[in-house]
Amino acid sequence: MLQIDIITVLPELLESPFQHSILKRAQSKGLVQVNLIQLRDYANNKHRSVDDYAYGGGAGMVMTIEPILNCLNDLKSKRQYDEIIYLSPDGELLDQQLSNKLSLCQNMILLCGHYKGIDERIREHLITREVSIGDYVLSGGELAAAVLADSVIRLLPGVLTDETSALYDSFQDGMVAPPVYTRPADFNGWKVPDVLLSGNERQITEWRHEQALERTRKRRPGLLKEGE
Ligand code: SAH
Repeated sequence: MLQIDIITVLPELLESPFQHSILKRAQSKGLVQVNLIQLRDYANNKHRSVDDYAYGGGAGMVMTIEPILNCLNDLKSKRQYDEIIYLSPDGELLDQQLSNKLSLCQNMILLCGHYKGIDERIREHLITREVSIGDYVLSGGELAAAVLADSVIRLLPGVLTDETSALYDSFQDGMVAPPVYTRPADFNGWKVPDVLLSGNERQITEWRHEQALERTRKRRPGLLKEGE
């Protein structure tokens, strides 16, 4: 079973994302365990402070080494971690390939930054991987951690009710997904493509493949290999 330990100063912010729908079911089926860990519990000072002024001056606080080190040491004394990931805007960009890779982990830690970020020495000595969810800046790592965890959890075998459905998601085969429709077949003149009503499975599969290819060419040409 995959265990995801999320270190944060705002565990409340991460409660809801894991309490609904697919992610909730994945946990109740015992396919994943998500633990929210309050970093302040590891601060050995009166005010449970986890940040301090930046050397060199300038506005904004920096997260200190000690509470993070204490927390990591405590977690590492209980189990071995495949990855200790710091969510960071300058990290490697999260994509489906990385989510696939991370879904093979047994235990991972996600460290959420705040303020101006964390002391660089934590990144140098304690982190195994740094991941960004896109080229924009968030106020904290929590939403990024939720995005990463969601994309990984839905890939775990047994999480999606239809085993094959993750395989047909965008990016899994280097293409985006084809368009989808549901009832009614004709909504005031907006029609569903005939082929989807035909019942001809081979034609439907072909149509979906063509649509996926065309969409990928138009929207994400970078995903296609030469000649496609
Ligand atoms: N001053 C830093 C940004 C700090 S934002 C800089 O310019 O790089 C505060 C925290 O939010 C970061 O420590 C990180 O954990 C998180 N964060 C912000 N944007 C992110 C992104 N695009 N992906 C992942 N984490 C992000």
